[in-house]
Amino acid sequence: MSTRLEPKTFLRHFVNTADAAGFHVLEYGEAGGLPLLAADLSPKLPRMSVYLSAGIHGDEPAGSLALLTLMAQGWFDREIAWHILPMLNPGGMAAGTRNSPDGIDLNRDYRDNHAAETVAHKAWLRHAGRVYDAALSLHEDWEASGFYLYEMRNGEPAALGWSILQSVEAVMPIDRSPEIDGFPAVNGFLRPHANSSFETMHEWPEQLFLHRDHTALSYTFETPSSLPLETRVLAQIIAIKTTVNLLLAPRVEDAFEI
Ligand SMILES: [Zn+2]
Repeated sequence: MSTRLEPKTFLRHFVNTADAAGFHVLEYGEAGGLPLLAADLSPKLPRMSVYLSAGIHGDEPAGSLALLTLMAQGWFDREIAWHILPMLNPGGMAAGTRNSPDGIDLNRDYRDNHAAETVAHKAWLRHAGRVYDAALSLHEDWEASGFYLYEMRNGEPAALGWSILQSVEAVMPIDRSPEIDGFPAVNGFLRPHANSSFETMHEWPEQLFLHRDHTALSYTFETPSSLPLETRVLAQIIAIKTTVNLLLAPRVEDAFEI
């Protein structure tokens, strides 16, 4: 099955849909003739602020499609500040490759910044000192047997992570391998950098940089590329909705109890 998503068509569709939903769409950069786009919704007194990004790997279309679907459904609550980057690597998406057209894995580039895509993204993040209540990065994995997630949050694991996994299990299996991507995993829950220093590491993923400078709570969601695209998009949508709904719950501290 082809996983290629035609970025020009996708981005045009995304811009039209975001415009119609009242978002401010900004072209924060350009890479290989394709625009790097962000869509912001900034209410005066937001209940919280949420960052969402997808498509940093060009062979992982489900996250981008999930964001477009939610936008088209009018799901994004107008009392929340949203900052949405629907496709961080449009050149990779055009080619259907994990890396950027320059051969760089953008998700290892957030410390040393070799790629134009990363430089532009970090400049956008620095603008107005963006800080988020939560940041979600949407990914896919060719080797996974089911959904799993990475959490970054100081302290103990958040119960929210387990709730996200439980909600996704309604539509796809959870990868229960004891080790995923070289990291220890417990029923699809990974916290490889919890409470540890990563300042000496060089190949920082996006999530690590967000954790350091822009948010206290972040998740990377991973759907298995072997399942039908529709199911993967649905799983990403469920994971996003569960996260936001639980963070908005009246007793939000419940979401953080073990
Ligand atoms: Zn990825």
